[in-house]
Amino acid sequence: KAKKNLNTNFEYYEPEMEEQTTWRLDMIRQLGLDFSERKLQLWYQPQVDLVTERVVGMEALLRWPTSNGGFISPDVFIPLAEYSGLIIDIGAWVLEESCRQLGVLSALGFTELRMAVNISMPQFRDPEFINIVKSVITEQGIKPARIELEITESIVMDEPQIVVEALHELKEFGVKVAIDDFGTGFSSMSYLQQLPLDRLKVDRSFVNEITPGKSAFIAETIVTLGNKLGLSTIAEGVEKREQASYMLKLGCDEAQGYLFAKPMPFEQLVVFLENQQDK
Ligand code: C2E
Ligand code: MG
Ligand code: MG
Ligand code: MG
Repeated sequence: KAKKNLNTNFEYYEPEMEEQTTWRLDMIRQLGLDFSERKLQLWYQPQVDLVTERVVGMEALLRWPTSNGGFISPDVFIPLAEYSGLIIDIGAWVLEESCRQLGVLSALGFTELRMAVNISMPQFRDPEFINIVKSVITEQGIKPARIELEITESIVMDEPQIVVEALHELKEFGVKVAIDDFGTGFSSMSYLQQLPLDRLKVDRSFVNEITPGKSAFIAETIVTLGNKLGLSTIAEGVEKREQASYMLKLGCDEAQGYLFAKPMPFEQLVVFLENQQDK
């Protein structure tokens, strides 16, 4: 009976699936076009030290503007960019642009700030990836330790060998490595031993719930795990004062979230940093 239902469902959804495919292909074509016309933007979200609440770094986040003044969510277009391979060129541009902007910040006197950059699996498969990372950093004359590559647990599980090797080489060069959305990947934790990691990013879903409950216990466990492994920890998606206090109490080092600042264009980031300097 279940099988029959499945078949019925499938037939019912078939036309819609075709629409979906067309929609995906249209999106991919438009994304490639807009990227080649330099319409993609990089925004930056500050990361703060939980004790001093001063900005210690920022995460570069892609923005794809639409013609009516809105944006298409990265959660929608990043998977398409990965699926189509466009992420290789887009990701190279993200690295180049974020390092260039970090160079600008250095020239303005912000010489210690870190830049976190999200990396997708297809980028690791690109034989040029390691060279791209090294050359964009070298060209800007930035200390490699100021650049942090964010990868997800699923990336590590996908093709562990490629990722482990690449990260070791990049680590030797001096860049930092963080696991993004930590705790959401359902993966084995053995990679915590194999990878040269610096930081765990506690996923927003665990930071959200600060009243005693499962999520709060998971947040606590992740921070403890990070501390015991000698990794620093950062809480993602901190929106409320109580969440920041709770994460600080757990011993979490840093935070990122709307409570402190939303992602913003570079010009706005500079103003934000300069205002903070006066405080
Ligand atoms: P992520 O790397 O985990 O980035 C954090 C996401 O949480 C960002 O969403 C950010 O805007 C959002 N966020 C930050 N603080 C808060 C908060 O307090 N509350 C809530 N509700 N959300 C908050 P965004 O910018 O939409 O990016 C979504 C995802 O897209 C990123 O998740 C990342 O996986 C991916 N992404 C973005 N830019 C890039 C990129 O340049 N390359 C790659 N490969 N992926 C990217
Ligand atoms: Mg990230
Ligand atoms: Mg994240
Ligand atoms: Mg995410």
